[in-house]
Amino acid sequence: MYSSALAATSGKTTAYGSRLFVYEVAGLSQNTDNDSLDYPIRRSGSVFITVPYERMNQEMRRITRMGGRIVSIKPLDAETPLKPTSNRSSEAEVAQPQQSKSNPTEKKRKPMTQAKTKVPVNIYKPKDPFIGKCIENYPLVAEGGSGIVQHLTFDLSGGDLHYLEGQSIGIIPPGTDDNGKPHKLRLYSIASTRHGDKGDDKTVSLCVRQLEYQHPETNETVYGVCSTHLCNLEVGADVAITGPVGKEMLLPDDEDANIVMLATGTGIAPFRAFLWRMFFEKHEDYKFKGKSWLIFGVPYTANILYKDKLEEIETNYPDNFELTYAISREQKNSEGGRMYIQHRVAEQAEKLWTMLQDPKTHLYMCGLKGMESGIEEGLSPFAAKQGVEWSDFVKKLKKEHRWHVEVY
Ligand code: FAD
Repeated sequence: MYSSALAATSGKTTAYGSRLFVYEVAGLSQNTDNDSLDYPIRRSGSVFITVPYERMNQEMRRITRMGGRIVSIKPLDAETPLKPTSNRSSEAEVAQPQQSKSNPTEKKRKPMTQAKTKVPVNIYKPKDPFIGKCIENYPLVAEGGSGIVQHLTFDLSGGDLHYLEGQSIGIIPPGTDDNGKPHKLRLYSIASTRHGDKGDDKTVSLCVRQLEYQHPETNETVYGVCSTHLCNLEVGADVAITGPVGKEMLLPDDEDANIVMLATGTGIAPFRAFLWRMFFEKHEDYKFKGKSWLIFGVPYTANILYKDKLEEIETNYPDNFELTYAISREQKNSEGGRMYIQHRVAEQAEKLWTMLQDPKTHLYMCGLKGMESGIEEGLSPFAAKQGVEWSDFVKKLKKEHRWHVEVY
């Protein structure tokens, strides 16, 4: 397997590949229960960690996650000049040591602070995708549910693909299309936090539904190219990944924000990432204190993806998380019809409306096309009662960057 990512970061092919840097880190405690952080802590409270160039970003994120603050970064050989990093577009976009533009002599004098993490985009492009490996592929639909939905995790080791919650990656299925051209990429919302399901910043996870439909003319069953490829992917198989992309569905940094999430089916993917970041991971710089509310539409109880974990959060964090299901084939709406997400929204209109008046509340929706009009159907009559035109209200939320939609 050839991985351009390996080439881009290997010690032989970059200017710094074999260089070592020393991070001086404050604020770490040695009794952290987190992985392998067992560096000697000096009386000054600082820890000195030697990091190979190619792991600088990952290590920086890991340190931040564990509550550490990088006080300075120096090349192990203090005379080593610091130059720009690799030519990948991501390098300028993520938290970086400040070396790239500054003068190396100045560098030795000034302590380094961590730059604010920016949104990484298109680190890997379709012409030169990252080749990851599938390390997990398991079903999410319980017995009696409809369709096939898989949770997949890919190993990103050896590359520099990193991402934020709410972004998507592209997958290029192998083979060619009907015109003999290589298949185009398909986008999938990332279902893991920036630290990945293994917590080591080296994986990305997806939640993929196999597309299956009856051909309208021949009535034959047709299976989607990429979703079938992914759902059947064997552990150990290679997968061509592009991205990450997307800035629409990012989770605000504000720990006090209120997050309303409306999902149908695999639309749960970005919200899994949000909820895992809010409730399952521990961060020094992000401790969620707002209210979050997931309204999740599925056909059957067996189709409630990640059900146990969602209910675990509901049990453990009753003040910060609310969970509402709309189970269309099992529950009835007030008119006796199927219970879709818009019916739950209508039932909860007053509470949702009140929440949305708070400038700290963000509304996210992800999943089936048409959701947006369903939500309008559920909320606009309530808005009208308050004398507010729904379209004006949505415009206001969009302007305030509080209205986030990803439908497909
Ligand atoms: P293809 O082989 O490309 O077939 C799709 C085509 O089949 C359609 O273009 C249409 O022409 C035809 N078709 C589909 N349904 C019917 C029908 N009922 N009747 C007739 N023709 C039909 N998917 C997920 O599973 N999980 C995700 O998290 C996810 N996130 C996404 C995020 C974004 C931003 C976007 C844009 C899409 C996302 N998708 C997600 C959808 C995903 O990108 C693919 O579109 C999906 O997996 C189908 O791709 P495929 O290659 O399997 O199907």
